[in-house]
Amino acid sequence: MTSAATDAPRATPRSIPVRDPRTGLYDAAILAPTASALNNIAERARRAQPAWAGLGFEGRIAVLRRFTQALEARRGEIAAALEIDTGRRRVAGIEIDSIHGALAGAAAVAEPFQDADWRPGRASPHIQHAPQWLPYPLVGVISPWNFPLLLSMIDAMPALVAGCAVIVKPSEVTPRFAAPVMAAIADIPELEDVLIFAPGDGATGQTLVDLVDCICFTGSVATGRRVAIQAAGRLIPAFLELGGKDPLIVLEGADLDAAATAALRGCALSTGQACQSIERIYVARPVHDDFLARLVTLASAVRLNWPDITKGDIGPIIFERQADILRDQIDDARSRGARILTGGEIESHGGGCWLRPTVIADVDHDMAVMRDETFGPLLPIMAFDTEEEAVRLANDGEYGLSGAVFAADIEHAARVGRQVEAGAISLNDAALTTLFYEAGKQSFKASGLGPSRMGADGLGRFLRRKALIANTSAPLPLQAFSEDAR
Ligand code: NAD
Repeated sequence: MTSAATDAPRATPRSIPVRDPRTGLYDAAILAPTASALNNIAERARRAQPAWAGLGFEGRIAVLRRFTQALEARRGEIAAALEIDTGRRRVAGIEIDSIHGALAGAAAVAEPFQDADWRPGRASPHIQHAPQWLPYPLVGVISPWNFPLLLSMIDAMPALVAGCAVIVKPSEVTPRFAAPVMAAIADIPELEDVLIFAPGDGATGQTLVDLVDCICFTGSVATGRRVAIQAAGRLIPAFLELGGKDPLIVLEGADLDAAATAALRGCALSTGQACQSIERIYVARPVHDDFLARLVTLASAVRLNWPDITKGDIGPIIFERQADILRDQIDDARSRGARILTGGEIESHGGGCWLRPTVIADVDHDMAVMRDETFGPLLPIMAFDTEEEAVRLANDGEYGLSGAVFAADIEHAARVGRQVEAGAISLNDAALTTLFYEAGKQSFKASGLGPSRMGADGLGRFLRRKALIANTSAPLPLQAFSEDAR
């Protein structure tokens, strides 16, 4: 967790230092707005929202296309800011590309929400009804540090397409991208007052929840719980996308090279700093040792992108305190008898913290590495004897974000995947929700709350459905309900 919002924003803006994860230096700062400044921002957004909604879907999408062009014009500045805050280059480019995808995805599912057709009643044909879709006027987006731009826009873009005004509160750990993005917004007058970035910390986020009509939160379970309670007090919807502890099951007969390749990518991409990372691997006992050997070979070959950011496979640990969590989980596993086969040490290079993919054998569910969210490149592996046992182990935990199953064929993988309690299951691959956004999925158990952020619900959840109900015959008199009516 980055910051518990214990301090209410004070009367003067607060300066929050920002660290470069490659150097360890706090070489920048953001100014968190005061509560009254944030209130003014919310009022400004509310004033502008009706005109934005009035543009209609096509008008809004056209403006947002110009916005994506304005972002492209500043691509270099945005990528440079993301690169400093996250210590990685390729993924910074992917984050920028994701904004085009978020707009295209929302535009592709917009048609049903433009339906205003009258339809006859089923039970009462003389009564007709028609839907009206009304956006929440003001949506708040609170995002984490692992994909700073992508996770700021993944909800903001569909909310804007729906006709909402949006205030984004990015993570205080990785806020540098917000300045060039705000400059791009300033190039688009129609957007300037309906898409507003308000960098700040937990206290800023807490204030924001009190100012909006709907809150989208991506972050830890602990903070998500606080946001949910605060939102419940105001009776506003809270769409929560929280932590995960995603299992991968490898069944007998699976292609072990493919499974090991997917496991490593699913675990170590972005140094494991992804909610839908593979964090636990269960392998059928007859193929366990073979799979383990292949994974060790692959994991041993992974390169840090140090000292040259243009070379290597994984970047630094972005959030310094995350290194302590990783070290603790490794130490706990080691002290309980697990074998660390690769990686295993937090390395210090140039002031930053790094960890190579760490394959851990002989683990069990008493170890923190199999229970708690890791958010780093740890690959703990456990053997199972029956499919029932594999499913029971996969379902033994508080999270239900996603999971993965490898089998000899997709039907077999699907049969097992259907029994795993999680919102999305990758079959014969891992962490496909990182690459594919079209399938609607919810987050199960402690991993989240609310309709799907992906697919049609990703847009629809920002629109309230209103019903216009018309009687084409004479209204009923009260007497139709009299005790002695016939
Ligand atoms: P975090 O919960 O510490 O912080 C997330 C955001 O909440 C930050 O912007 C922070 O400033 C803000 N915040 C803190 N206290 C607040 C409060 N009381 N009210 C409102 N806002 C507050 O999480 P983090 O460490 O930034 O991110 C890592 C976590 O995010 C991991 O658990 C990861 O699994 C999760 N995550 C989930 C998804 C998903 O889609 N499910 C995606 C990425 C990350």
